[in-house]
Amino acid sequence: MTSEASLYRHTVLYLCQSFFIKDNRAELLLHAHKYDFDIRFFSELAQFVAAVEADRGNSLFVIDLDTLHNMQADLQDARKTLMLGELLARLPPGHSYVYLQSSRQGSRFLLQQRLVDSHCLAYAEKPIANDVLVDKLFNLFVQSKRGDAVTLVTLGLPGSLDDATLRDQRIDVSYHADPSTLHLRVKELQPDLVLIPDSDYLRVDALARVMQKNIEADPVREIVLLQRRPDDALARRALGDGFDAVLPDTGSGMLEAQLANRAAKIRVNKDLIGKDRATGLLNKVGLRRKTQDLIRQATLEDKPLAFGVIDIDKFKTINDTWGHHFGDIVIKRLCLCLAPQMGERDLLSRFGGEEFVVVFWDCTLAQAWPRLDALRTAFGAIAFQVAPGDQRRFSFSGGLAAFPAQRSENELFVQADAMLYTAKQDGRNRICPAPRA
Ligand code: GH3
Ligand code: MG
Ligand code: MG
Repeated sequence: MTSEASLYRHTVLYLCQSFFIKDNRAELLLHAHKYDFDIRFFSELAQFVAAVEADRGNSLFVIDLDTLHNMQADLQDARKTLMLGELLARLPPGHSYVYLQSSRQGSRFLLQQRLVDSHCLAYAEKPIANDVLVDKLFNLFVQSKRGDAVTLVTLGLPGSLDDATLRDQRIDVSYHADPSTLHLRVKELQPDLVLIPDSDYLRVDALARVMQKNIEADPVREIVLLQRRPDDALARRALGDGFDAVLPDTGSGMLEAQLANRAAKIRVNKDLIGKDRATGLLNKVGLRRKTQDLIRQATLEDKPLAFGVIDIDKFKTINDTWGHHFGDIVIKRLCLCLAPQMGERDLLSRFGGEEFVVVFWDCTLAQAWPRLDALRTAFGAIAFQVAPGDQRRFSFSGGLAAFPAQRSENELFVQADAMLYTAKQDGRNRICPAPRA
């Protein structure tokens, strides 16, 4: 492994032809590093198998089926399908693989079927551009992570849904009995899914319209009619009224299965809207929503929150001197420095290019300063090799604000940003306001 490998959170083990490695390695790595993963190339099956077996579960395994040509050249044997069988048989079981095949291989359905049935996570047809391949692999990494919980509010009494099954699918269920106050509950909880049984429909038929016209409505939210008695006219009316779906509730587990699939789609949409592609951290939109949630919880539980804005110092100079790609690496390194120090209920966001926001749960302004200052020291200690024998260190400045002194997400941001400005004015590489001595 290169000394840089520890910089990246994930690894792709890639079995491919030796000439491919020579020609493409640098370009493929460049794309992969932008997405915070590294690629280790193998041209020998035995070494690839050993690396898969030694892996600790954080990697993706990619196999270019044209490596069969390498093996055939070695063995001077042209029995291609037999060789494919041998290749597949030698792959360690208990893992999934991404296969890359030529379009000629793809046109043979039996071969295709065999691949799909051989621990196949996904397959791609070649030629595939390096940036497209890297983008797809990044998606597979993101998908393999456990998604955020999806919140569901249903009109009805506890027990009308199979809570345990839904909880296994990371769906949190709340019940609300009174149709006349459902809109208030939705406003309070901001759920991702709202379920209305058909028996209550006539009392809440305007609910979908009312919720969707709200200027702050969450575009990802789905409102679903549960149909216990088939009634096409009612279903058409609900769909016309702005309901997103009509699901039959036959009590056979079908409903829970359908809800699990809808929740998976909701998670994908929430990530697309609320997360930064390059780092997987919350973006500005995601941060806003999560901070509002956190303020709601802090109010209920009577806890303080600290809100910190971080901005890398003289980043333009870093870009101008060592290039944009190097600048991206500095950003990734800062992410990796911050992320492990976040608590379960803290938030971390890549708010803009080289600007980050942290929100510390149950933390006062005075308690937040040493935490953020320790992060500043840790980042400042990282030695970046800009040229052989030339190491540089960089810094960031930070501004802090706290809830409940600042009451809203917007006030917190404005105050923390003003403090960041002070930190820059006072000479950078510091956190403001510093505690009084
Ligand atoms: P200051 O200490 O005052 O913050 O100086 P600065 O040079 O860091 O100034 P500023 O924060 O205004 O500059 C941010 C620069 O970051 C501008 C932009 O070109 C660059 N940038 C923004 N996003 C990215 C990114 O994703 N990658 C890289 N490499 N550069 C970025
Ligand atoms: Mg900036
Ligand atoms: Mg800056």
